[in-house]
Amino acid sequence: MPSASRTAAAGLLIRGLAKTVYDWMHPAPRDVPRVTYPRDTPPQVGRQDEPCEETGKVKYRDVHEAESKVALNQARYDRGEVEYRLERAYCCEFCGWWHATSQPLRR
Ligand SMILES: [Zn+2]
Repeated sequence: MPSASRTAAAGLLIRGLAKTVYDWMHPAPRDVPRVTYPRDTPPQVGRQDEPCEETGKVKYRDVHEAESKVALNQARYDRGEVEYRLERAYCCEFCGWWHATSQPLRR
């Protein structure tokens, strides 16, 4: 028969282990920035009403315009109105305008 203090110590150890396993299985979400800024913002090439020559994407004037499109898309995605989900806005290194993408940020 183990003593009472020994049983309590074993209980603490098991709870500690369980918490470690739980934390390992449920990592806290990392704080991934949703907006990426290029180191040097290239000059904006071409007209906004023409798609990006490099990516074919719609151009947005600035981070606010692009971010609001992303937010709008995510709300519509959550309501089941669209099948694709935009992830973030970024400034295009080719055309200098802002685009929205469904690709999460790569590290
Ligand atoms: Zn572009």
